[in-house]
Amino acid sequence: MEQVMYRNKELETMPRRERESLQLERFRERMAYVYDRSPMYKKKYDRTGIKPSDIKTLSDISKVPFTVKEELLESQKRNPPWGEMICVPPEDGVRVFQTTGTTGTPLKVMMNKKDWTEHSYEQFMYFMNAYGIKRSDILYVPFGYGLYIAWWGFQAALEQAGVMIVPGGAQSSKDRVKNIFEWGATVICGTPTYLLHLGEVAKKMEISLADSQVAVVVAAGEPGANIASTKKAIEDTYGAKCYDDIGSSEITNFGFECVVQKGTHVNENMFYAECLDPVTLEPVEDGEVGELVLSNLCTETMPLIRYRIKDLVKFNREPCECGRSFLRLDGGILGRSDDMFQFGGVNVFPSAIENLLREVDNFSNEYQIIVPKKDSKKRIKIRVEPLSAQVSQKDMQDSVEKFIEDFKYRVTFTPTVEVVKAGGLPRFEGKAKRLIRET
Ligand SMILES: [Zn+2]
Repeated sequence: MEQVMYRNKELETMPRRERESLQLERFRERMAYVYDRSPMYKKKYDRTGIKPSDIKTLSDISKVPFTVKEELLESQKRNPPWGEMICVPPEDGVRVFQTTGTTGTPLKVMMNKKDWTEHSYEQFMYFMNAYGIKRSDILYVPFGYGLYIAWWGFQAALEQAGVMIVPGGAQSSKDRVKNIFEWGATVICGTPTYLLHLGEVAKKMEISLADSQVAVVVAAGEPGANIASTKKAIEDTYGAKCYDDIGSSEITNFGFECVVQKGTHVNENMFYAECLDPVTLEPVEDGEVGELVLSNLCTETMPLIRYRIKDLVKFNREPCECGRSFLRLDGGILGRSDDMFQFGGVNVFPSAIENLLREVDNFSNEYQIIVPKKDSKKRIKIRVEPLSAQVSQKDMQDSVEKFIEDFKYRVTFTPTVEVVKAGGLPRFEGKAKRLIRET
């Protein structure tokens, strides 16, 4: 195991009971803060008849109404551009972003100076230390600068901490491969999909990224970093350790993997996390799959209280070998509760299918899952492509048969598999969209 580094050992290893009193105090303070400053929260809490002073124990938090993305979007539509959840004057904003809007209208997000240079910075200092990144490291950022937050918070925080940044935006993947060697990058970040794609590009150039100086790969934006087979593929590609990084534009950065690599920690000093049954919205036991609900305990611009981020997770509060007492998400983000689908009476997670696909030789890293319309009597179709045009038809056929067998055994029904030509499936630089629901 790599050396364990902390941002703040005392805060990261404190006994759970002590942390809970800190969380209670911070939750109450944030709830009072939004109640005083945001018309959206004030109306909502007044309607429910709940006051910040009603929160006397952590279990009282369950009485506080949820916040959902639709409500934030609706508020911005009615009161453009920021909506009624903003708690600071708009002129205090120093950074704006918008969500990817893969599921509809993008949400506008703003950060004041304190959130950007202190809170977001602090969140990433937990990440940086947990990954073992030092000031002497060189971070390569292979991502275009834009409205999607992606790596810009991470980059800004690491830069502020003294890490050298190599901006790899507005370049071809080939140039990026060359850059990694030329600038001696020791850390690279990206979505699992793009990181693997870069590996494919390098291979075509007859270069192995494992020969670069990259020792740490930070992966975010998709569940991949915590899907065992995907993590292994990334680690083999770069000859480096791959760590998970979780956050979203609106809730900010809450989850990081430590060098133990057994689940993703939630920064419970800056967030309050709950794991609830997506249907009943009652808490589920640790070890059971539920929907993650998060509350910001520190931010100022638009703190979200009991925000349903729609990610499915499994809590683990057992002590971690790294010494942190922060809870862990076993397997990181298991999928989106919106992406989970029911088929043949089974709850199917696209990430489970990805894991199976990545265990099969001769398949590339790209795939699509096509879910037929309910009651159409059609089977689920998985679209795959060969790793390269050199894979023979016979080898591909054997791989498809093996995949169908594994799928039947592990997911419990039979899919159809369509093979397209090598390179025939779409590539993504940001969040991949591979689940297609027929309507
Ligand atoms: Zn740990």
